[in-house]
Amino acid sequence: MSISENIAAIRARIDEAAASAGRAGDTIELIAVSKGHGPEALGEAVAAGQLLFGENRVQEARAKQPLVSGRAQWHLIGHLQSNKVRQALPLFERIHSIDSLDIARDVNRVAGELGLLAKIFLEINVAGEASKFGFSYDALRASMEELLTLERLSIDGLMAIPPFNPDPEGSRRYFATLREWRDAVQEEFRVGLPELSMGMSHDFPVAIEEGATIVRVGTAIFGERTRKAWKPGTTDGD
Ligand SMILES: *Cc1c(COP(=O)(O)O)cnc(C)c1O
Repeated sequence: MSISENIAAIRARIDEAAASAGRAGDTIELIAVSKGHGPEALGEAVAAGQLLFGENRVQEARAKQPLVSGRAQWHLIGHLQSNKVRQALPLFERIHSIDSLDIARDVNRVAGELGLLAKIFLEINVAGEASKFGFSYDALRASMEELLTLERLSIDGLMAIPPFNPDPEGSRRYFATLREWRDAVQEEFRVGLPELSMGMSHDFPVAIEEGATIVRVGTAIFGERTRKAWKPGTTDGD
């Protein structure tokens, strides 16, 4: 299957999952996760009407963006180091991976210096995994008051990467947990957190059934990633 066929198939599955949850498919955003893939592959996606891309490394995105249509929009979905914030902010429309109060403070400060409003998601460590970044539920509640004082942040919602389970049904309870925590925090702090960024290639329909508003799909669009990062001067491996 070509990239454009993959995108069409995924959009159809998004519509189907949304319909089964009583929602309209066009209210769900698809991020084509393009890490590891080069500009030729992204150009095919753009030609198929896919304009939203997700990258997990600032350097890789910075090298790739000038080689892709200016109509494309970019979201950062990987861990952000404080020394990359200044570079990252102008490159990305949204940052899904604000995973600590410290990085939130850094982004807020630099956004102020650059005269920007940073649209962000708070990343939640929904299964309490030691190997993963993100706020625990307790840390989220303990941080929320200060987060809401950070005027250069627009906190649009929550994001999570549940433990990998080849059976998508195994992820359902984590997606439901993210939604429940979001609902509780909205209530407790009287804020709107409308977006839920959750669901990847193997489990996005389940995520949509549990309330995802934005899904992050890489492999099912572009195929297996052959390299860790794409670098300028290399051709697409797919
Ligand atoms: C790589 C990545 C994805 C996409 O994963 P696939 O399984 O290839 O769809 C989604 N979200 C994040 C945070 C990622 O790093």
